[in-house]
Amino acid sequence: MPQWQEISAPAAILPFERRKMEKRIEIGNEEEYQEFLRRLPKYRGLRYRATEFTARSKVHPKRVEDIVTALNIKNRRKRIEYLFDRACDIIDAHNEAEGIICHYNADGICEDPKHQTRKNGCCCHCYLQSSSGCPSRNLSCKFYFCDHMCGKHRPLTMEDIDLLRLFTASQREIIKNNVFVTRKAYINMLWIGSYLIFCMYSVLKFYRIKNVF
Ligand code: SF4
Ligand code: SF4
Repeated sequence: MPQWQEISAPAAILPFERRKMEKRIEIGNEEEYQEFLRRLPKYRGLRYRATEFTARSKVHPKRVEDIVTALNIKNRRKRIEYLFDRACDIIDAHNEAEGIICHYNADGICEDPKHQTRKNGCCCHCYLQSSSGCPSRNLSCKFYFCDHMCGKHRPLTMEDIDLLRLFTASQREIIKNNVFVTRKAYINMLWIGSYLIFCMYSVLKFYRIKNVF
């Protein structure tokens, strides 16, 4: 019998204030955690707009805490900013722990034998590049590593970061292909999140990237 529990109860009803609900989530094992993940599209929807989530989990407690923190941010833009920054932090921590870093020689040429003409590695075609590295933050760039690096290490993919399931399908498409932009422009694109706009944007981006590689 699964230990999965969802308990909803109305919180104090204040005059002139929208009725708030509370949802307490108890997760006892991996199976229940996977069930929790499957319910995320429902939890991020309008029906839970005024719901305050609390959770206790015996598995992946940090992941559950991150997801619940995001669910409790009701402002759409602020939730996107939190998801973006937290995902970047998770990737940075993983890369640091696993020693996944691109090395450059004195001339700024990276170690990938196929890209010995590239100064500043993958950033060389980006208008943002600077001598001190990336001046902004870009989630798509953080996911990208060449075959040479992937052969030596195991960088994280989108599927490894459960938090990203709080993005819609079109927002996840944006994350797959949104290199060469600042954090602010990136957040704006995720915020717009329109599939139509993203398709037009992708076509333009495809031709721009095709021309530089
Ligand atoms: S990912 Fe590969 S090609 Fe890109 S900078 Fe690193 S080593 Fe060079
Ligand atoms: S946005 Fe991406 S490609 Fe541009 S400087 Fe930053 S990490 Fe490099």
